[in-house]
Amino acid sequence: MATCEVCGNHYGMTFEVHAAGAVHVFDCFACAIHRMAPICEHCRVQILGQGVEADGHWYCGAHCARAEGKVGIVDKV
Ligand SMILES: [Zn+2]
Ligand SMILES: [Zn+2]
Repeated sequence: MATCEVCGNHYGMTFEVHAAGAVHVFDCFACAIHRMAPICEHCRVQILGQGVEADGHWYCGAHCARAEGKVGIVDKV
């Protein structure tokens, strides 16, 4: 039994996510997304795909990066 670090659920089927040297424990993907997904700095959507990083800022896609004045950003394919 482990405890989800987001909702505190005690659950037998938790899973771990290893990121940046830390280990996070979740009971479901919804909680993992809530905790781990970066937020687009333009439209505030949670970034579930690769996203776009520009000058240390995260955006959901190139269109949001451009809307914030970042130039030369193209979507990764
Ligand atoms: Zn949870
Ligand atoms: Zn966005």
